Amino acid sequence: VSLDGFHPDYLNRFDTPAFDQLTRTGVIADGLIPVFPSLTFPSHYSIATGLYPERHGIVGNRFHDPTRSEDFNYRDQDDVQDGTWWKGEPIWVTAERQGMVTASIFFPGTQAAIKNIYPTYWRPYDSRLPNTERLEQVIEWLRAPASERPHLIMVYFSIVDSAGHRDGPNGPEIRSAVTAVDRLLGQLMDTIGQLRYGPNVYLVVTSDHGMAAVDPKRQVVISNIINLDGVRAIPTGPSMNLYLKGDAGHSRRLRDTFNRRTNLATAFLRQEVPDHLHYRASQRIGDVVILPEEGASIRFSSQSVPPVGMHGWDPNLTSMHGIFLMRGPTISPSQHIQAFENIHIYPLLAQILELDPAAEIDGQIDVLRTLLEH
Ligand code: AMP
Ligand code: ZN
Ligand code: ZN
Repeated sequence: VSLDGFHPDYLNRFDTPAFDQLTRTGVIADGLIPVFPSLTFPSHYSIATGLYPERHGIVGNRFHDPTRSEDFNYRDQDDVQDGTWWKGEPIWVTAERQGMVTASIFFPGTQAAIKNIYPTYWRPYDSRLPNTERLEQVIEWLRAPASERPHLIMVYFSIVDSAGHRDGPNGPEIRSAVTAVDRLLGQLMDTIGQLRYGPNVYLVVTSDHGMAAVDPKRQVVISNIINLDGVRAIPTGPSMNLYLKGDAGHSRRLRDTFNRRTNLATAFLRQEVPDHLHYRASQRIGDVVILPEEGASIRFSSQSVPPVGMHGWDPNLTSMHGIFLMRGPTISPSQHIQAFENIHIYPLLAQILELDPAAEIDGQIDVLRTLLEH
C-alpha cells in the first residue's frame, strides 16, 4: 500500500487508530529514506526495483534522454505506459516471471510492459477514481477464488500528497486526508481479518517521500542567473537538470556562474553530484544538476505561484522521509526500527514472497533480515 507524500510526523500529530493497530501488531520504522530526487516516480520505482534512479532509469518525474532524443513526462500517459523507459526489474515482474499472479491499482510503473510483462491485473491511471473504489478493487482481489487470486497486490493513494501540496505539511487539510487514509487502512485490515487465509497475509504500508513548506521568498528564476542558450533545462520538482550539447567547458562555466550568483541552490556537474545521492551513472541525468536548499526551488518564471508544500529535496532531510509499517506471519509484533533506505524493500518483498530476486540490485536483504527473525 503506497500512500503518496505521507510524512511520519502525521502519525504523531493526528488520531490514527488503524495505523496504531498496525504498529501494535507489526513493525514501524522511524522513517523511510527516499531516493534523490524525492519525487513520486523515481521513489516508487526504487521501492519496486531495489535500484537507485541512476540504474532504474526514472531519474525524475520528468527528464530528457539524449540517446533517444526524447523527454519523459509523468503527466503523459504515453510515456508512463511505454515500457522502454523503465529499466531494472520491478517486484511484480519478478513475481510474474516466476509464475505468480500479481495485481496493481495505479502503482507507478504497473501501466507499462516492463521486460514485456504487465501485472496480470492493472488499470490505466485515473486520478479521479475514488479511494473507496480503489480499496473495493483490492478487496475483490483478496476475496477472489484461489485460481484467480493475485498473491501480490499493489495499491496507490495520492490524497495525502495532494493535501500537502495545496496546504503545506502543517496545513489543516492534512488532517482530513490522513483521517481518510486511516479509515481505508482500517477497512483493509478488517477485510484481511475476515479471510480464511488472513493470518498468512503480509501488509506493507509505505510512502514515497515526505513534504516540506515552500518558501516563496527563496525561488530562483533560472534565466535571471544563467544564460540558457543551447541548454535544455528540465525541472524535476524543485531541482533542475540541464542538458548541454556543447563541450565540458560550457557545463563548468554554467556551474560556476550559477554558484557565484545564488546560495539558495548548488549546481553540480553530473560526475560531482554528492555520493549519497547516487545520481550520476545515467545519461538521463543532466550534465549539470541543480539542487536547491530545503524550501527553495528553481523555476522558469516568477509569474506562476509555487505550491505551498513540496518535496524532491535531499532524501537525507527528515522532512523528505516517508513511512514504513509492516505486519505478517513471520513478523513479531511491536517492533520499532531505525529509518532505512527504500531500496531495501524490494529484496524484503522477494524474500517473503519466496521469489528469487533480480541480480545485482542496490538494496540489501541484510538491512531488514532481522525483521523476519522471531
Ligand atoms: P508528485 O508531482 O511527485 O507529487 O506526483 C504525484 C502525482 O503523480 C499524483 O498526484 C498523480 O497526479 C501522479 N501519478 C501518480 N501515480 C501515477 C500513475 N501511475 N500514472 C500517472 N500519474 C501518476
Ligand atoms: Zn509522491
Ligand atoms: Zn507530491
